[in-house]
Amino acid sequence: MVHSVFKDMPTTIFEEMSGLSRAHNAINLGQGFPDDPGPEAIRAKAAHAILHGYNQYPPSAGLPELRAAVAGHYRRSQGLNFDPATDITITSGATEALAAAFLALIEPGDEVLVFQPFYDAYPPLIRRAGGVPRFVRLEPPEWRFTKAQLDQAITDRTRLVILNTPLNPTGTVIPRQDLSLLADLCRERNLTVICDEVWEQVIFDGRQHVSLIGLPGMAERTVKIGSAGKMFGLTGWKVGYMCAAPGLSRVLARAHQFLTFTTPPNLQTAVAFGLDTPGSWFSDMPAILEASRDRLTSGLRQAGFAVLPAQGTYFLTIDLAASGIHEADRPFALRAVTQAGVAGIPVSAFYEVDPVTHILRLCFAKSDATLDEGIVRLARARDLSLKAVPQLVEPPSTTMV
Ligand code: PMP
Ligand code: GLN
Repeated sequence: MVHSVFKDMPTTIFEEMSGLSRAHNAINLGQGFPDDPGPEAIRAKAAHAILHGYNQYPPSAGLPELRAAVAGHYRRSQGLNFDPATDITITSGATEALAAAFLALIEPGDEVLVFQPFYDAYPPLIRRAGGVPRFVRLEPPEWRFTKAQLDQAITDRTRLVILNTPLNPTGTVIPRQDLSLLADLCRERNLTVICDEVWEQVIFDGRQHVSLIGLPGMAERTVKIGSAGKMFGLTGWKVGYMCAAPGLSRVLARAHQFLTFTTPPNLQTAVAFGLDTPGSWFSDMPAILEASRDRLTSGLRQAGFAVLPAQGTYFLTIDLAASGIHEADRPFALRAVTQAGVAGIPVSAFYEVDPVTHILRLCFAKSDATLDEGIVRLARARDLSLKAVPQLVEPPSTTMV
């Protein structure tokens, strides 16, 4: 008999919905990946490096040129100063960076503050590292937290906070005021923060990404995690980074060396090229995605859906209850993919305690034609849902749009 906590664990909601989407030949607005192949010059660089470059183990902390490129990028784009020799570890995606950071920084019984909705990997990784997640619940339409919520969740055993901004699945950016509030508490209570900033370049309407590590007193207590997959729209590449002050960085690198030890050198070379070359990707990519966001938003609104504003990421959300749908997000998402041929992600999958159950996440990093057809199919899903689950009482009007 297999002895493992993973024995009864289902596949992730992303795998489940992408699998159903393939089985039903649906339009996949679920799992977050763009449907274009990504910048050609960066892919060409990787291909060249495979054929003509070095293909043996690179240094565990990452190729020196990539560590220097990450430091240069963050200096130029966010005014942050990292020493490539001591502050940066290259990982196999942000997922490995998260695992390494949890393994390095959690001792058995330590409590970790987790905001719901969370990225799905956080709670299982925290628990396998011996930690105990303590949840802070965010809710629509603003998905913000208060000092009272933080005070209530933090105990004498709290050591760590995991924060994600821009926030997947809500598509919101945590306001500077809320980051400051969290930073104040972390200093007061001597907490370390793992800040998952994989979406930092995917931010709209002229917003500037604010990194928690740059706030007063946070440099020594923050691990900043990034992902080239999101920066360049190459989600399958799995090249990530952990940036932190030398003391923290040293233990992060030690955890990383026993997880994957290193990351494919050719992809590292290509990512370094992408970061160092003043290509137009960092301006083109958000502009293109912003137009896709606007197209999906206005199409859905014309079709009578209540769309919540998306400030960053590949995702917007719709409020099902306010869109006249009287089904919870998961049954509606299953109906939409199996009966109407369109996949989305139920946001309740990202809660463990007291889930918000009326929000559906949709990925807009798709061609115009795909988005337009997605809208038609979502409207069909709503019609089917209304026939199956007619309105019995006035629905609660939970969200303003
Ligand atoms: N964190 C968040 C918030 C994400 O959305 C994702 C993937 N979309 C990851 C981590 C994982 O990133 P990677 O693919 O680089 O492992
Ligand atoms: N991060 C992607 C999303 O949010 C999914 C990544 C995965 O499938 N693990 O859709």
